[in-house]
Amino acid sequence: MVKDKTLRSIEDLVAAGLLPAAALAELEPVAEQFAVGVSSQMAAVMRSRDPDGAVRRQFVPDRRELTVTPAERHDPIGDDAHSPLFGLVHRYPDRVLFKLVSVCPVYCRFCFRREMVGPEGDGAMSDEDLAAAAAYVRARPEIREVILTGGDPLMLSARRVRTVMAHLDAIPHLDIIRWHTRVPVVAPERLTEDLVAAVSRSDKTVALAVHCNHADELTGPAEAGLRALRRAGVMLLSQTVLLKGINDSVPALETLMRAFLRLGVLPYYLHHGDLAKGTSHFRTTLAEGLDLVEALRGRLSGLAQPTYVLDLPGGAGKVPVTRELIAQGGVRTWTGDWHAYPPEAGS
Ligand code: SF4
Repeated sequence: MVKDKTLRSIEDLVAAGLLPAAALAELEPVAEQFAVGVSSQMAAVMRSRDPDGAVRRQFVPDRRELTVTPAERHDPIGDDAHSPLFGLVHRYPDRVLFKLVSVCPVYCRFCFRREMVGPEGDGAMSDEDLAAAAAYVRARPEIREVILTGGDPLMLSARRVRTVMAHLDAIPHLDIIRWHTRVPVVAPERLTEDLVAAVSRSDKTVALAVHCNHADELTGPAEAGLRALRRAGVMLLSQTVLLKGINDSVPALETLMRAFLRLGVLPYYLHHGDLAKGTSHFRTTLAEGLDLVEALRGRLSGLAQPTYVLDLPGGAGKVPVTRELIAQGGVRTWTGDWHAYPPEAGS
C-alpha cells in the first residue's frame, strides 16, 4: 500500500513551509476554484533543488489564476464536443481517449482540464462505463489506438489497470494502448513492480507518454521508474507544456530533451499552452514558441526534437505550429475546415 502524503490545501502548503502564513487569505479563493495537490516527491524537490522555482511555479497556487481572459474557456480543447459516452472522447477516426479517472497525483496550475479534474471533478469510469467504452471500440474496426488518460490514469490500482488492459487486449483490431501520465515523474513511488507489470502486460504495443516540463522534476526515483517501464517493454514518449517563466528558454528545453533521450524517452510533443481559465500568465506567444523550437534544431539531434503543437480550441484537434499559421491567423485542419487562432470572440 502506497502511503499518500500529498499536500492538498493552502493550509497544508503553509504547514509544510512552502508558503508563508500570509498566503492563506490570499490564496484560499484560488483553492476554492481549482484543486490543489503537491506530491511528496515534488515538495521534496522544491525544498532541495529548485533554484529557479521551475517546479514550484507548476504546482503552488498563485493569485494570478483568478484572472480569466475573454479567450479562456471551461473546456479549452473541446473534449465535450466529441464525447459520445461518459469518459470516452472520439476526435480522430483511428483513436479514442478513455478518461479513466479525474484525480491526479499533483494539480498543475496550468492544467488544460483543470475544471474537470480534482476531488470534485468528473469522477472515474465505472465498470459499466468501461464495458460500454470497450464495446464502442470493438464495434469500430477503424479505431486502432486507445489513449488512457484522465486526470492521471496511473492513480488506479494495479488491479484496476489489469481490468482495463483485459478489456483492450480482447479487441483484435486494436494495435496500440497508450498511457498519458505524470506519475513516473511526480509520484514515482506509485510505480511498484505490480503496477509496471499491469501497465505493460499486453501483446499489443504499449506506449506511455510521460508528462514532464523541466529537468529539475527528474529525480533518482523518477529515473528508476522510467527505466523499469522501459525494461518491461513499454515505448516511452514525452509530452511537455511550454510554460512562461518555467521552460521558455533554449537551455531549459535543451536540458530537458537531452534528459529524456538519456532515459530512453523519445521527445514527442511540446504543447502550446491551452486557453484554460486563469492560465494566461503561463502562456507564451506562438512566435516565441516557434523561435525556441527553431533554435533547438541547431543544437539537438533529430531524435531529440519534439513537435510543437497547438490544440485548437473547440475540439478540432492538434496542429503543428508554423509561421504560416501565425501569419494567416489560423489553419485548415485535416477535415478541410478553417480554424482561426487566436479564436474569434464567442467561438
Ligand atoms: S497531471 Fe495532467 S490532468 Fe492532472 S492536473 Fe496535471 S496536467 Fe492536469
